[in-house]
Amino acid sequence: MDTRAFEQEFVGKIKNYAYLWQDELYIEDMHYHTYNDNVRHIMDSIGKEVESLALTVCNYFFEGGYEGSGSGGSGYDLINRKIGKGVEVKSCNLAQNVTCSCHRKYNPIFFRSCPVCGSVERKVPRDARFGIDAKETLRQLDKGTFDRFIFCKVELQETEVIEKKVVFSLSFYSVDFDDKELFNVKRDYFKNQVEKGSKPHCNLLPDSFDFYKLVPQKLVEVLVGVDFSEPSRLCADGVWVEYKEATQEVRVPLSICKKAEKEIMKNLPSYDPLEGTVDCREFTLNVPYRQKSLGKDRGDTTINKDKTLSN
Ligand SMILES: [Zn+2]
Repeated sequence: MDTRAFEQEFVGKIKNYAYLWQDELYIEDMHYHTYNDNVRHIMDSIGKEVESLALTVCNYFFEGGYEGSGSGGSGYDLINRKIGKGVEVKSCNLAQNVTCSCHRKYNPIFFRSCPVCGSVERKVPRDARFGIDAKETLRQLDKGTFDRFIFCKVELQETEVIEKKVVFSLSFYSVDFDDKELFNVKRDYFKNQVEKGSKPHCNLLPDSFDFYKLVPQKLVEVLVGVDFSEPSRLCADGVWVEYKEATQEVRVPLSICKKAEKEIMKNLPSYDPLEGTVDCREFTLNVPYRQKSLGKDRGDTTINKDKTLSN
């Protein structure tokens, strides 16, 4: 598949989903205001949608042969019969409901401040993570049938509450196990969880210490704009998709690390003091895993920091 064909297929698929999201947003917005309903359902099927997008991504970036596993019971989301391996696709939607200090939940897509008490103090849930069955991953890795993870992070980029517009970003990453030097370090993430974790299940937070330890390669990013002032049947030009060339190299910011880790990172050859980053591969080979904390980094409070559309 050439670049143009890929972009066309990829953007076309996303645009079709964006029409679904437009209708979901329209309905949810209506329910919020009419029925005081704060049950979240927008992008509920994002997991399946990302799986289909990951298929297009894999066939373009990794030389074809990938297909959906259907209900074949292979244990993988995508399979490649040519190489006899499978792909696990994980998505994580960070465009979630927030919780006000008065405990009311609401979505910042629809409200600038709490619809009950007006406060802008909000807890942003940080529990949206990539859920991974560590035991199964370990088994597949040791069997030699594990090709890669495709991770997709969905984020809210801009909201315009009054205009009823929103911009999401979808970022696709690949984590493979081809690099012999990195294999055991990456494998240890799953092994540690199985042996030392309370459950054999990883809750991997995007852009976290553990995420970088897996040396993700960023493949592609798209911006998706949705106007939900009308349903898609009345507003067909209410969605747009912008394809962004991805930077392949992922660098680790020192800002996410602890003091002792930063000291190690500052001595790495790839350390860039201006950017405050190091090369991801070097980071993984030199900075050891942290002791398992009991989920201390969950939950984070931030004050309204939404950006507005600047057009
Ligand atoms: Zn409130």
